[in-house]
Amino acid sequence: MVQTEKITSASTIHYSACPLCNAKNIQLTLATEDYSISKDAFEIYACDSCDFHFTQNAPAPAAIAPYYQSDVYISHSDTKEGLVNRLYHTARDLMLEKKRKLIQKLTTGKRLLDIGSGTGYFLNHMQKSGFKVTGVEIDGDARAATLKNFNISVNPPPALLDGQLTEKVDVITLWHVLEHLHDMDGYMQSMHRQLTEDGVVLIAVPNHKSYDAQHYGKYWAAYDVPRHLWHFSPKTVAKLADKNGFKVIDQKRLPLDPFYNALLSEKYQSSKLSLIFGGLIGLVALLVSYINPARSTSPIYILKKK
Ligand SMILES: [Zn+2]
Repeated sequence: MVQTEKITSASTIHYSACPLCNAKNIQLTLATEDYSISKDAFEIYACDSCDFHFTQNAPAPAAIAPYYQSDVYISHSDTKEGLVNRLYHTARDLMLEKKRKLIQKLTTGKRLLDIGSGTGYFLNHMQKSGFKVTGVEIDGDARAATLKNFNISVNPPPALLDGQLTEKVDVITLWHVLEHLHDMDGYMQSMHRQLTEDGVVLIAVPNHKSYDAQHYGKYWAAYDVPRHLWHFSPKTVAKLADKNGFKVIDQKRLPLDPFYNALLSEKYQSSKLSLIFGGLIGLVALLVSYINPARSTSPIYILKKK
């Protein structure tokens, strides 16, 4: 396999060729910034050959931790006070059920691997539904929280990437995780090795071809630079799948994603009526996705081995 041309310094990664197809004709397509944590400026580049979009000069693995505030996510998900948190919990429980139902429509297999399992709510939900669950998570605090709250032991990434997980699984899930992984192809190949021959992979990632992405431009919350290293569309997910021995067999959606993205995007552009405008744009984005699934806000791609 051709090694993608990149220069990794201690702190950043500069690509001189497309990280997906290795073509040389890449160019700046959007200048944006990290609206949520650092306020640092970043550039998104696009490949003229395959239309893959990626964050140029993104922080290297050793330098990206300051752009994450994992304690924020953990405390947010563990407190039960306040209306916003109650709504958050209700929405999360609804989505956990939607994910379980979708998986059980796709397979009767009961061995599940969740990559980027966070604080373990999805693992716990699936274990309670009779699945034998395995988690992989890079953040040590999140792994500790999963053990403490649910008594589920989660692996750090090398267990998967170095092939230490011996048992094959019927389902692999990545809920808004793939766009964060520096070693995108390494993970895809590990997934291929870990999955049974008729197993399924579910990958949820934002779609920069969505209605809300085009409406909000550089303020679109799901660009989320530099945490999001890759910016996918249905076409480039299909290309990544094909490159690593998979094919996309279907595409689904979660109905709350367009609203979440729109509300956050309104906040980033300092809108005065963010609840009203965010709600409206979220609704339009959802309707557009029913008419044209290629413009869904954040599709769930269903993959099988080729
Ligand atoms: Zn390309």
